[in-house]
Parts: sequence; C-alpha cells; structure tokens
Amino acid sequence: MNIAYLSLGSNEGNRQSWMEQAIDSLSVHAGNVFARSAFYETKAWGLTDQPDFLNMCIALETMLSPVDLLTVIQNTELQLGRTRTIKWGPRTLDVDILFFNNEIIQSEALIVPHPFVQDRRFVLMPLAEIASGLVHPIMKKTVAQLLDECPDGLEVKRIS
Ligand code: AMP
Repeated sequence: MNIAYLSLGSNEGNRQSWMEQAIDSLSVHAGNVFARSAFYETKAWGLTDQPDFLNMCIALETMLSPVDLLTVIQNTELQLGRTRTIKWGPRTLDVDILFFNNEIIQSEALIVPHPFVQDRRFVLMPLAEIASGLVHPIMKKTVAQLLDECPDGLEVKRIS
C-alpha cells in the first residue's frame, strides 16, 4: 500500500464543491482518503489578477503506481470541467501530487516531491495540519520545519 499526499485547489465557481467532488472521485478511483485538512483561502499566486483560491491537502492510501495515480487525477480534473487556457490562470480544479511514500521521481510526466512544496504557504499550511512530521525526502526537513522557513509572504487564511 502506498501513501500519497495531494494538494487540491480551485478558484472558479463553487470552489468547495469542486474539491468535495474531487475527493469523492479519488475515493472511488484511487483509494482511501484517510486524512483531510480544512479549507484555506489564498490570494492567487503567480498571475494575481484573478479570484482567490481555496486550497486543501489530503492523504490517500492507494494501490496505484505514481503514474497511474496521476492519470486518475488528470481524469478527475477533466471530468470536473477544468477549463484553463492561461498558465497559472483561473481553474475549476487543480490537483498535485506532493509526496508519494518517500519516493523521489523525476520523469517527464511527474516530479515528486512536487518541486514547489517548500515555496508555497498555501500548500504547507494545510499539509502541516495533517502531516507536520512528514520528512521531505530530498530536503530532509519536516513539513513543520519547511513551513517555519517558508519565505512565501502570501496570506493564507484557514476558513473551516
Ligand atoms: P498543472 O498545470 O500544475 O496541473 O500541471 C500539470 C502537469 O504537471 C501535468 O502534465 C503533469 O504531468 C505534470 N506534473 C509533474 N509533476 C507533477 C506532480 N507532482 N503532480 C501533478 N502533476 C505533475
């Protein structure tokens, strides 16, 4: 059995509903979602002239390989009507694989741990809620330490 940590984000339409539907779909197609953070609201990162994001993290037990999990994630994003034409622009749903066991993967399709985990407060805050002691296999620091040292100045508000 594998343990994966995922980041979910949405900044279009009923953001909470997209993320709930994504969790339902991942529970059916990928495995048991055994932990989930609260929702956090964040100003958009990158392209800032767009609606605020809602973000959360979940932990998943899965029998899928990393690449098969990515395929399930991408199908889920498509099914939930993700529309996105601009890099970093508005999207109904974005799901990233943050960690997969303590594996280090660097292929064309998949980079794990996700390369921006340590740079984004909107990832680290919800992740710290469900996995503060998890150790980044390259940086050799816990999620709590990464959050402590994160230089990202964007405000992240816990909303539920
Ligand atoms: P995004 O625009 O953030 O949804 O990125 C989607 C692309 O990133 C896909 O084509 C994936 O193949 C690639 N990718 C690389 N590493 C990851 C990861 N850890 N989680 C999700 N997508 C990834």
